[in-house]
Amino acid sequence: MKHAALRREIIAACISMNRRGLNQGVTGNISARVPEGFLITPSGMEYDEMKPADIVTMRLDGTHEGKRRPSSEWRFHRDIMAKKPEVGAVAHMHSMFCATLSCLGMDIPAVHYMIVVGGGNSIRCAPYATYGTQELADNALKALEGRNACLLANHGMIVTGPTLRKAMWLAVEVENLAAQYWRALQIGKPNILSDAAVAAVIEQFKMYGQPGTKSLPSCC
Ligand code: 13P
Ligand code: ZN
Repeated sequence: MKHAALRREIIAACISMNRRGLNQGVTGNISARVPEGFLITPSGMEYDEMKPADIVTMRLDGTHEGKRRPSSEWRFHRDIMAKKPEVGAVAHMHSMFCATLSCLGMDIPAVHYMIVVGGGNSIRCAPYATYGTQELADNALKALEGRNACLLANHGMIVTGPTLRKAMWLAVEVENLAAQYWRALQIGKPNILSDAAVAAVIEQFKMYGQPGTKSLPSCC
C-alpha cells in the first residue's frame, strides 16, 4: 500500500490525541501531505478501529481515492495544503480549553511567552460557520494568516506543522496556552505581553535547545 508508514503515523496520532485528552470520540481529523495531494482521516470512524487502508488519499482538486469517505472537514485541510506550501500536516481537535474559549469567540492573546509557537502574538478565533462548509474553511484560512494555529468559534482548534510530529506537538502547546488563559481569567485580568516582548521571545528562541539540532518550537 502506498504511504503505509504515514498512514500508520496518522492513526497513531489520532489515538494519541484522544488518549491525551486533546480530543474525544470520533471528532477531530488529521491530514498529511503526499506528492499526490494529502492523506486524511475518514469521516466518523473510531480511531481504535481505523486501519491504514481506511485513510483516504485526496488530491488538491478535492477528488479522492479509497474505500472511505474523507473527513467532512477536507475543505479546510485542502485549502491549507493548497495555500501554505510549507505545511506538511494539519490536525483539528475539539480540545477542552480551546473549545471553551472558542465558545466565547475569544482569541488567545499573548498571556504567556509560549504564544509565539502559534507564529505571532495571538491565536485568532475564526468566526463560526457550520462544520464541513467552505465558509468554515474560508474563515479558518483567514484566521491562519501568518499563524500555525487558530480556534474555530463554538467548535475547536486547528494546528499545522511542517511534519505531523510538529503539528501534534503544537496541539499540546496550544491547548496548554488556552488552559493557562482560561485559568488566569478565573482569578483576575491577565497581563498581556507587548509586541516588543513577543518579538524578543522570537529572537531568543533562535538560540533555544542544542546546537546543531533543529529544536522545537517550530515558530522560529
Ligand atoms: P469527521 O469525522 O468527518 O472528520 O468530522 C469530525 C469533526 O470534528 C467535524 O468538525
Ligand atoms: Zn470538528
